[in-house]
Amino acid sequence: MTDPDQPTTCTKQAHRAACRDPVFDWEDRRDFEFASRGLLHRPEDPAITDAGGGVVWHHEAFEDFLHGDAPETVHPSLWRHALLNNYRGLFKVTDGVYQVRGESLANVTFVETDTGYIVIDPLTTVETAAYALNLLYEHVGERPIMAVVYSHTHSDHFGGVKGVISDEDVSSGRVRVIASDGFSEWVLKEQGLAAEGMASRNSYMYGENLPPGPTGIVDTGLGQAIEGGEVTFIEPTDIIGTQGGRLTIDGIDLDFMYAPGEAPSGMHCYIPKHRTLHVADNCYMCLHNVYTIRGAFPRDAMQWADSVARSLQYEETEILLSGHNWPVFGRSEVRTFLGQQRDGIRYMHDQTLRLMSHGYVPSEIAEAIEFPPSLARLWHLRGYYGALKHNVRGIYAYYLGWYDGNPATLDPLPPRELARKTLAYMGGVDAVVARARDDLERGDYRWVVHVLDQVLWAEPDHGEARALAAAAHTQLGYGAENATWRNAYLSAAQELRNGVPAGTKNPRTLRDVTKGMSVLLALNALSIRLNGSKAVGSGFVINWNVGETGEACHSELTNAVLINRDGADPRADATVDLSRSALGRFVLGEIGLAGLEESGARISGEAGLLSDLVAMLDHFPLWFPVATHGMKFGEA
Ligand SMILES: [Zn+2]
Repeated sequence: MTDPDQPTTCTKQAHRAACRDPVFDWEDRRDFEFASRGLLHRPEDPAITDAGGGVVWHHEAFEDFLHGDAPETVHPSLWRHALLNNYRGLFKVTDGVYQVRGESLANVTFVETDTGYIVIDPLTTVETAAYALNLLYEHVGERPIMAVVYSHTHSDHFGGVKGVISDEDVSSGRVRVIASDGFSEWVLKEQGLAAEGMASRNSYMYGENLPPGPTGIVDTGLGQAIEGGEVTFIEPTDIIGTQGGRLTIDGIDLDFMYAPGEAPSGMHCYIPKHRTLHVADNCYMCLHNVYTIRGAFPRDAMQWADSVARSLQYEETEILLSGHNWPVFGRSEVRTFLGQQRDGIRYMHDQTLRLMSHGYVPSEIAEAIEFPPSLARLWHLRGYYGALKHNVRGIYAYYLGWYDGNPATLDPLPPRELARKTLAYMGGVDAVVARARDDLERGDYRWVVHVLDQVLWAEPDHGEARALAAAAHTQLGYGAENATWRNAYLSAAQELRNGVPAGTKNPRTLRDVTKGMSVLLALNALSIRLNGSKAVGSGFVINWNVGETGEACHSELTNAVLINRDGADPRADATVDLSRSALGRFVLGEIGLAGLEESGARISGEAGLLSDLVAMLDHFPLWFPVATHGMKFGEA
């Protein structure tokens, strides 16, 4: 095999064909003008670092290679998008409205009030949020923060909150924190309880373990990369209901429109004084994810299209801002953009349901669907983040779930057993690998990764299968227009070559979100660690009293389930008095009994029950195999 990192002739030919494809208007430079308009300052330092000097955000690493024509290892359309996401720094959007873009996965927006600022979406981590605020203070002026708005429930829009305000700012009433109905519940549902299962998949999608460069990560669609650092959470003080409403913050009116879509709880924010509309992540400069491959509930595409359509009510809008990428400027440009975004979502939705209604199954619909030329030619509907192919599967799942209706797929053999039998029917592993080698040469990469995946389920350590599969994944990555697909394929190649990572480059996990939740919500993170088979036959009640807030909850173990309820239970067998931070760390498994005691927790009643409970709890690995199929926890 030639150098597996080199693009093959097939890959190079595909890129040349893309360059000639009339769907791409390479002469259209409007996005470059929008992305660069209003730049006040572009930082020159090589990276944003944390207190210990660790890099949380690269400038230099992306700067080194992101210029000129697309290299042969990157799809030319994705390359164009990556160049646009590299317009970064502090921007003056209009008088009184500023954005820091390209210094995080997401954008932060600052709106001047009479005496201070409103912050819309304080980025993902404390380090990048504080860095962005400092840019504003240095180049525009230092004023107090009056309010923080969370546009929706995803951590890239609230995780940096403690980089711009403190708990004390909020508890003293100095700063309001504004979010939409159901915000905290959805944060936990989408990103708290599923955080452990999502972490490895998240790293694949965002290329967290890939080096920046033409053979590694070039972009994520939403921005260059996901930053490292500390994720934080502060509960909202003001909830905007489903009817929306106006708030006046220090002389500035904000009109909120409840707008579920990309997130199940979110809102758009119109600022009449500046004729500026912030549309959360419901629209940006690439196709959205109706389903995201890190894993999440499929989103309600009808509701989403409706949220975008209702935004047309702000007829005076001159500037449209969103949580990622760059703004749209101009009244008619904004209206056209919103209409096209609405139509893109509805087209995916309606055509999926049409084909579903003829009995097509998800993989057939994914293969069949294409945008009509009038939508396909729009740069802002190209699939750099969402992809038509995975979105339509999500829409199908939203309505009909995982099952395609065919009883032959209702109860399939598990993958290892299925692979062993299939390969035996096909003449054995070595015969299959030999044929896969030829198909790889022919450029049949989708088939090669499929058939070698079977081999690796049957024989996870088959060296040649791993090498060939890695080579096929690499070419699929180079050929992908979608940034998250590229990252996933290249991450698979990396795992196939080097094995399961010992950790992620960014140790940040969404688990931090759990620490900021109400006690009752956080205790549910404990329930999902309970190993059912170890809990068989046990039963007890434990009261939890949290010192700082006086909150009391109890957990009842019954039928190998840990049920949590508000309030103390007088029947409790044991009671634990502990701090909120100790509870957060205990439910996540960061500390056990000894750690609880060290934190000053007091256990009364049958103290031995706590040790019994701890012995029934699983610890989740930071990383589990994704592309390699080595044995998992508990697998015989
Ligand atoms: Zn986002």
